[in-house]
Amino acid sequence: MTAPFVSSSTRYEVTTPPPVDRSTRARTGELTLPHGTVETPQFMPVGTNASVKALSPDDLREVGASIILANTYHLYLRPGHERIERLGGLHRFMAWDRPILTDSGGFQVVSLGDLRVVEDDGVTFRSHLDGSIHRFTPEHATAVQEALGSDVAVAFDQPVYPSSPREVVADATARTHRWAERSLAAHRRSDQAMFGIVQGGLDPELRSESAAFIAGLPFDGICIGGLAGDETPAEREAAIDVAVDVLRDDPRPRYLMGLGSPLDLLEAVDRGIDLFDSVLPARVARNGQLWVPGGRLNLRNRTFLDDPRPVQDDCPCLLCRSFSRAYLAHLFRARELLAYRLATCHNLTFTLDFMARIRASIRAGTFPADRPALRSRAGRMSGGEAAEQSA
Ligand SMILES: [Zn+2]
Repeated sequence: MTAPFVSSSTRYEVTTPPPVDRSTRARTGELTLPHGTVETPQFMPVGTNASVKALSPDDLREVGASIILANTYHLYLRPGHERIERLGGLHRFMAWDRPILTDSGGFQVVSLGDLRVVEDDGVTFRSHLDGSIHRFTPEHATAVQEALGSDVAVAFDQPVYPSSPREVVADATARTHRWAERSLAAHRRSDQAMFGIVQGGLDPELRSESAAFIAGLPFDGICIGGLAGDETPAEREAAIDVAVDVLRDDPRPRYLMGLGSPLDLLEAVDRGIDLFDSVLPARVARNGQLWVPGGRLNLRNRTFLDDPRPVQDDCPCLLCRSFSRAYLAHLFRARELLAYRLATCHNLTFTLDFMARIRASIRAGTFPADRPALRSRAGRMSGGEAAEQSA
């Protein structure tokens, strides 16, 4: 069994290692960060603008969130990392006292920033808010995250679409490696972890080289980036397998960025992933899609207007404890703000409860046998289908 990983900011211990028969790579662990301990495998709700949309910190605790993600790019542009620092840091600013991970900003710079110019030194881009010109370098992205004071900072990277041509992926991956070294060299806070990002697209050779390079640096955890994009589930799973092969004996936590449908989470846990984040459960909730065992209910459908039952019988969430499907369907039709809060509470409760069921199954040593039941609870919806549903 691998000894726990310990640094000035981070302790990670695998509490249930994968079985020796290789029937799964799923494992449980405990990740201890400056603001608390996170049981893995774990899902991080996304608080883009220092708020998980429609929820208060009390709501977040009630749905079972033990760690959340906040977006470096968004908070840098608005209200500004220096302002948040002056106001006591991100935890105090948003009144959330449990762990926070800030992403690198790389994905938003590439996907939201207009007129971006990528050079070896950094990326120049135009704000999606007001058109102003900004520049992110590895050093600057690190300084922004240090000012925010998150528990985990992530090294600046250059993500590309998984389906990009090989030379484009190779170029971005090599730049991501140089930026990983510069991010680490710029990182000063000993009370903040820093995770590095593996890129490499869908090319097994590039993905494997990237995993080996990033794992060779003194990061506190390893992110697997550049997936949860336009690849098929089979392509994604193959890329995860390549990276986890390289990281097999590495003691640090593995975080797959941007994946959020229950079935996708289950398949990635099975392949050895410990941490996840996605806007998906909350986004589809705000569109009236409620996740229930085996599938989903579309509360915008008229049939629910006369349905007195809760969305999910055995669900302990704020919605299901007190309100009927008929009431929520009415709230959505009337565009009442409470609809968004109640629906988001439910989908995050469902997602975090699903992760708790996965952890219990791994701990009991029955995960391979429980996979079919967990798959049927997750339903058939993949991230891609869910995105279409919400469009
Ligand atoms: Zn519920």
